[in-house]
Amino acid sequence: MAPADDTFTQDPKFPLGGFLPDPPPARTVREPARDVPVLAECDVAVFGGGPAGVCAAAAAARAGKRVLLVERHGCLGGMSTVGWVNRIHTLYGTDRKTQIIGGLPEEFLRRLQRLGACRNLARDGETGDWDICGETAKFVWDDLAVGSGVRLALHTWLVGAVRDGRRIAAALVESKSGRQAVLARTYIDCTGDADLVRRAGAATTLGNPEGKCQAPTLVFRVGGKGPEAVPLGRLQAELFQTPMDYNGERYPCFLWGGAGVWNPSEQMMAGTRVLGVNAADARDFTRAEVEARYQLRWILRQLKGLPGWEKTYLLDQGAQIGVRETHRIVPEHLLTRDEVLHGVVFGDTIARGTYPVDIHSPDAPGITFENLDGTFRRQKADGSWASGRWDGEPAGAAKRGTLCWNAPYGSLVPRDLENVLAAGRCIGADHAAAGAIRVMINCMQFGQAAGTAAALLAPGQAARDLDASALRKALAAAGAPLR
Ligand SMILES: Cc1cc2nc3c(=O)[nH]c(=O)nc-3n(C[C@H](O)[C@H](O)[C@H](O)COP(=O)(O)OP(=O)(O)OC[C@H]3O[C@@H](n4cnc5c(N)ncnc54)[C@H](O)[C@@H]3O)c2cc1C
Repeated sequence: MAPADDTFTQDPKFPLGGFLPDPPPARTVREPARDVPVLAECDVAVFGGGPAGVCAAAAAARAGKRVLLVERHGCLGGMSTVGWVNRIHTLYGTDRKTQIIGGLPEEFLRRLQRLGACRNLARDGETGDWDICGETAKFVWDDLAVGSGVRLALHTWLVGAVRDGRRIAAALVESKSGRQAVLARTYIDCTGDADLVRRAGAATTLGNPEGKCQAPTLVFRVGGKGPEAVPLGRLQAELFQTPMDYNGERYPCFLWGGAGVWNPSEQMMAGTRVLGVNAADARDFTRAEVEARYQLRWILRQLKGLPGWEKTYLLDQGAQIGVRETHRIVPEHLLTRDEVLHGVVFGDTIARGTYPVDIHSPDAPGITFENLDGTFRRQKADGSWASGRWDGEPAGAAKRGTLCWNAPYGSLVPRDLENVLAAGRCIGADHAAAGAIRVMINCMQFGQAAGTAAALLAPGQAARDLDASALRKALAAAGAPLR
């Protein structure tokens, strides 16, 4: 009989890259021009149904607009569902007393709370980060969209855009029904990878100044964790000492996770990491998926040798590898690391957050956190940690009292386009600022702001000309504590 952990065994020699198509030849084919049937005419079309996209669509629909939401997967929620990323950060400022986030992000959490499908990690049950059940979140994302009057096109990919000067005249989608067009007054790019803006031929930036992107991670969940299981930090240290058997390389840590919402013997693990990946390149993306699954099986085998983890079994893995960074729009206002870390306040602030600048090294083990309180922590390539101050103060100096950082409306507006907005991790931020704004509680706020802005725009009005004070007023009326 096969051993119980047979599912975790694998070919010891990982065929790195051998399963990919040969590098593309320098050839093209001409696709004949054709008429494309129209799938929908609407006021606002949103592409990408992740945390940003659902909030954008719901906000516009609640403002009375006809809204279509296009999503390539069969469910909404993006990374929170198909990626099994199950931690939503706090609604409160760094003092943990002042609520800085409300509106749709709070509604999402309260709906989950009513279903018993999330747990606040603070002792007071309110002011900390939240662990959520990603499967139940699928229902809540549906309710937010459908309950707000949003029309859905699932299993549908955005594949192109037809430009008319500085405006998008039509978006092109592909599904089992073939190629179709979506006509809207305003288009919102919530694809995470700025797909719509790129397809429209407008400028974007990729990753860090060298064009390298934060490493992606396939998240998975295990069951069977014993009550005395050694902590994940020890697991990470063990993994780092053992070369990975499928390619002989060092484990490119970092590993973290949270216990299951319903059952403490279940554990979510963000533990795989694939280096040197641009997930907006289909070849790289394919390599990342397969390599992450090899890494996952290796981690599971190591896990089963550790006290309290011997009975571990695989529950599930994300339907896709989790992507942290690819393309971002070139915006009216580029949000910078310094603006984030110094908590600069903008006249057109539409979102606030406390998440630190968090950069997973693109091509080596290592991670850097830069916090609003002036401190940093860095895991070096040898697995050890360094810490200190990013603001030049001595280590023992008083910590900075910055309550939160702010994001301006101008960061949602692509510089080269008039009837387009972006929300989510592809807004206009530099590489470091993107490391802070990319978490879901922030992406939801950007979505709500973009959807509300789309509803406020007069026919023909360019997104950059919107009266930001009217937008801020509408967001405050919808529960965002922006004042
Ligand atoms: C491993 C990992 C751990 C993370 N940890 C945390 C954490 O603890 N807490 C936290 O809050 N955030 C975390 N993040 C970040 C966070 O999950 C993402 O940055 C966030 O989900 C981005 O939201 P979004 O709506 O912009 O994009 P996404 O969640 O990526 O959603 C984009 C949506 O667009 C769809 N889409 C993309 N392209 C197309 C297309 N061409 N046509 C149609 N649909 C398309 C996708 O299918 C997806 O549903 C983590 C990310 C990763 C990868």
